[in-house]
Amino acid sequence: MRALYKFAVTCLALALSGSAMAQFDFLNKAMDAAKSKMGPAGNLLDKAKPIIDSMGIDEPKEIEIGNTFAASLLGAKPLLNDPALHRYVNTLGRWLALQTERPDLPWTFGVLDDDGFNAFATPGGNIFVTKGLLARMRNESELAGVLSHEIAHVIRKHYVKALQISALAGGSVEIFTERWNKGPAEFRPYIAGFVKDVYSKGLDKSDEYEADRIGVVIAARAGFDPYGLPGVLQTLQSQNPRDGGFTLLFETHPTPTDRLDSLSKVMNGRFDSNNGSVGKSFAERSKEFSR
Ligand SMILES: [Zn+2]
Repeated sequence: MRALYKFAVTCLALALSGSAMAQFDFLNKAMDAAKSKMGPAGNLLDKAKPIIDSMGIDEPKEIEIGNTFAASLLGAKPLLNDPALHRYVNTLGRWLALQTERPDLPWTFGVLDDDGFNAFATPGGNIFVTKGLLARMRNESELAGVLSHEIAHVIRKHYVKALQISALAGGSVEIFTERWNKGPAEFRPYIAGFVKDVYSKGLDKSDEYEADRIGVVIAARAGFDPYGLPGVLQTLQSQNPRDGGFTLLFETHPTPTDRLDSLSKVMNGRFDSNNGSVGKSFAERSKEFSR
């Protein structure tokens, strides 16, 4: 708790400047405008919405589904045995999540014992980053950018939406609802199949672009340099997609170049006056959280 307090005080001095708030409003408006331009795809989503709403995934269910996702993920990749690192990542992640409209979710952050470069989110607020990703972060604002991107997937319910669309596409809404109503034990096999699928194929590209846009804003609101996430994307740009550690990420996301192009259109100088911090060094954080 003391560490969280110290972290919050450090960041509070930098957070929530008037300009960051204005940028948030601007991006919200830009996203609404983009949605209204979706045309037929937007209409389809509008038609699907009442069906999706009737599937009744409220917040407690969202959290329960998310825990099933997390159990599946952890079945494939164990957590790293490093309590100090987990304290740090949770402190940073929860500080970022506090800047969003869903601060009260049971946000939990974990580091997977995996040398690959990846990050995963589940419904309800579980977020995992790999050991290999952490090792390649050049500063704290880059890690803040990655965590904020994952947080954005949670607050916008991208995985819940993908699960619902998958059920609808299979024509199995009734089966889905019936199994859900019987309880988690009945529902788990369905979710397990979906989880394997979604983490190997990825979300809709538009959800990834949205998570980038919102992620930049969350990091800025938390007092970090908003160019942390673009910095990570530049690192990815220089990697070989066939390098084993990066393959999954490249297969499940739009290319780093497309993501940078998309971000530059909305950032377009609007964050130039933002004096966010690149954060403390990982060596300092390591000392701080090992105490
Ligand atoms: Zn993503």
